[in-house]
Amino acid sequence: MTRSAAVPILGSLACIERVMPTPRKDICDCGNLERMAEHPKCPVKFDAELNEYHIVGEGGGYWLIYYCPLYDGSAPKSKRDRLFHRITDAEQHRLCNLTKDLRTVQDVTAAFGEPDIHHQIGSVTTTPEREDKPEITKSRPVMIYTKLSEIANVHVTAYPTDRVDIHFQGKGVKKDAR
Ligand SMILES: [Zn+2]
Repeated sequence: MTRSAAVPILGSLACIERVMPTPRKDICDCGNLERMAEHPKCPVKFDAELNEYHIVGEGGGYWLIYYCPLYDGSAPKSKRDRLFHRITDAEQHRLCNLTKDLRTVQDVTAAFGEPDIHHQIGSVTTTPEREDKPEITKSRPVMIYTKLSEIANVHVTAYPTDRVDIHFQGKGVKKDAR
């Protein structure tokens, strides 16, 4: 596999338009979401801290549920706004513009200086075991800038260049497994 010389960076900013569903009149009280979340085989899970129901994917990822899947009501009101600042559209555009030309770690530090927080092991991702492939864990450095915005931290994940890309993977259970 070949890699380009430039180090791609991945900000935590979603530079896309946010599509919010239109709110429905009432929060559904049929209890089905609750029952689904309690069922061990059902992918619906309840996050008590955020007061949200999610559909949780087997290989990672989740989708927030806005409406009762069986009746006409809304899911419970999320407490997400109370935990985190919502990044306004104007601020999102400002930060997108501020970072749009940055492609490498060097670009970022030239523009913003040293990060306020530098995690050498910043982003750890695990791909679950699938068919003949073992579970794979990767870690990448993350630089966080906390002073670029009043309401947002800018996270910069660095990917490997010509150095090493270390990952961990499980040994085969059977002797001749790869
Ligand atoms: Zn319902």
